[in-house]
Amino acid sequence: MKTIIIGGGLTGLAAAYKLLKNGVSDVTILEKDPEPGGMAASYHISDYHIEKYYHHIFESDTELINLMADLGVGKDLQWLKGTTGYHIDGKIYPMNTPLELLRSPLSIFDLMRLAAIVLAIKRKKDISGFDDVTAKEWILKNAGNSVYERFFEPLLRSKFGNNHDLVSAAWLFGRIRIRSNRSASGERLGYLMGGFYRFVKRLTDSITWMGGEVRTGCEVSEIVIAGDAISGVSAGGYMECDAVISTVSPHAFSGMVRTGGFREMLDIPYQGTACALFGMDKPLLNDTYWLNIKSDVPFGAVVEHTNFLPVADYGEHLVYVTAYFQDADDPRWRCTEQEVIDSYLNGLERLFPDFSRSSIRWWRIARHIDTAPVYLTGYARNIPRYSTDLAGLYLAGMFSGANYPERSMNGSILAGFGCAGEIMGKMGAV
Ligand SMILES: Cc1cc2nc3c(=O)[nH]c(=O)nc-3n(C[C@H](O)[C@H](O)[C@H](O)COP(=O)(O)OP(=O)(O)OC[C@H]3O[C@@H](n4cnc5c(N)ncnc54)[C@H](O)[C@@H]3O)c2cc1C
Repeated sequence: MKTIIIGGGLTGLAAAYKLLKNGVSDVTILEKDPEPGGMAASYHISDYHIEKYYHHIFESDTELINLMADLGVGKDLQWLKGTTGYHIDGKIYPMNTPLELLRSPLSIFDLMRLAAIVLAIKRKKDISGFDDVTAKEWILKNAGNSVYERFFEPLLRSKFGNNHDLVSAAWLFGRIRIRSNRSASGERLGYLMGGFYRFVKRLTDSITWMGGEVRTGCEVSEIVIAGDAISGVSAGGYMECDAVISTVSPHAFSGMVRTGGFREMLDIPYQGTACALFGMDKPLLNDTYWLNIKSDVPFGAVVEHTNFLPVADYGEHLVYVTAYFQDADDPRWRCTEQEVIDSYLNGLERLFPDFSRSSIRWWRIARHIDTAPVYLTGYARNIPRYSTDLAGLYLAGMFSGANYPERSMNGSILAGFGCAGEIMGKMGAV
C-alpha cells in the first residue's frame, strides 16, 4: 500500500514516523518548502538555529516529550524560567511573582477575582460545554469588567485581533489549564538545547532511515479523485497512491481538490502571523521573555528569546516582534517585508525610548496566512475526523481534535499519530 502525506510539518512527520515504525512501508512525504518543519521550522544563522516563529513547550506536552526521548534528544530538553509582562499605558508590568502581581494595574479585588476564576478553570474536568459561550461573556460574568479589560482583553486582542470577542471560553480554559508549571518565582517552560530544529531533523532522519521518503521543494497541486476514492496526487507529475493524508490548512486543501462537494470538507477559519526576528547588539527588554502589548502599535507581543535562553548560546540578542492578522487585506500581509519591518521598528521606537535602530544587526520576517485556527464559538462541532467520506483520504493537522482547543507541536504530534493509527486500524481490518 502506498501512502502519500501532503505536508512535512510535525503532523506529517509524526504520521510517517508512526506508520513506518509499525511496519507500514512505502510512505512518502511531499513538502513544498525547501526544508521540513512547517510552522516549527528554523532559520540557520551563522552557527546556530533559531525558530522562525518563537517556540517553547509545557510540561503537559507529554506526547512530544516522549517522542523527543524516543529520538534520543530528550536529555537536551531544558526547563527554564519564562518571565512574562504587560506593556500598558507606556509602562512595563512584570507579571510573574505574587509581589509583581500586587504592583500591576489590577486592584487587590481584581487579583482575587482573577485567582478565583483561574482556580475554577483548573478544576473543571470537562470543558466541552464551554464551546458555545464566548470567552468575553464568561469572563465578564465571572470576573467582571475590570479584570476583562485590564487583563484578558489585551491578551485576546493580541491573539485574535478583531475576532477577540468571538473566541470561545473553551479556548481560554485550554490555555489556562496548560500553564500549570508555575511556582512562586514564576513559570518554567521547555526548550530543546540547540533549538527545535534538532528535533525536526532527528524525526526526518529516522523516517528516511526506516525507509520512508521526505521529498522537499515538492508542492502538491491536486489531490486526484476517481469516483468516491483517492487515486493519487499531482506534484509536478502524477503520483498514484492508495492513501493520502493531507496535513495542510483548509485554505490550501480546498485549492488542491477540484471536485465540488469534497472541497468544503474542511471549513475552519484560520488566521495569519507576521513574525519578525531581530538580531541585536543590545537587549531590548530588561529581563522579560514575553511582553504582551496593550498599545496602538502594529504588533501584539515582543518576545525576547535571549531572556529565556542564555545570550551566550547565540552571541547576540534575539528579539521577535509579532502579530496575528485576520485576513488577506491586512497590511502586515499585503505590504512588502521592508514596510512591515519599518512599521514594527516605528512601534518599538514609540514604546521603548531607549531603543535605537543602530542596535539591529540583521532581521528576518516569517509571514504566513494560515498559522492557526480561530477558535470561534461552535468550533468543536466542525472538527473533522481523520477519515473522510472519500475512500483513502485522511485529514490531520492543526485543525484536528488533538489540537483543540489550542494548536501546538504536541497536538500536531498527537494528530499525526492518531491519523496513522486509524489507517493502520483499517489495514488490519481489511
Ligand atoms: C507564531 C507561532 C508560534 C508558535 N508557538 C508555539 C509554541 O510556543 N509551542 C508549541 O507547541 N507550538 C507553537 N506553535 C504551533 C506549532 O508550530 C504548530 O501547531 C505545528 O508546528 C503545526 O504543525 P502541522 O504539521 O500541523 O502544520 P504545519 O506546520 O502548517 O505543516 C503543514 C505543512 O504543509 C506544507 N504544505 C502546505 N501546502 C502544501 C502543498 N500544496 N504541497 C506540499 N506541502 C504543502 C507546509 O509548507 C507545511 O510544512 C506556534 C505556531 C506559530 C505560527
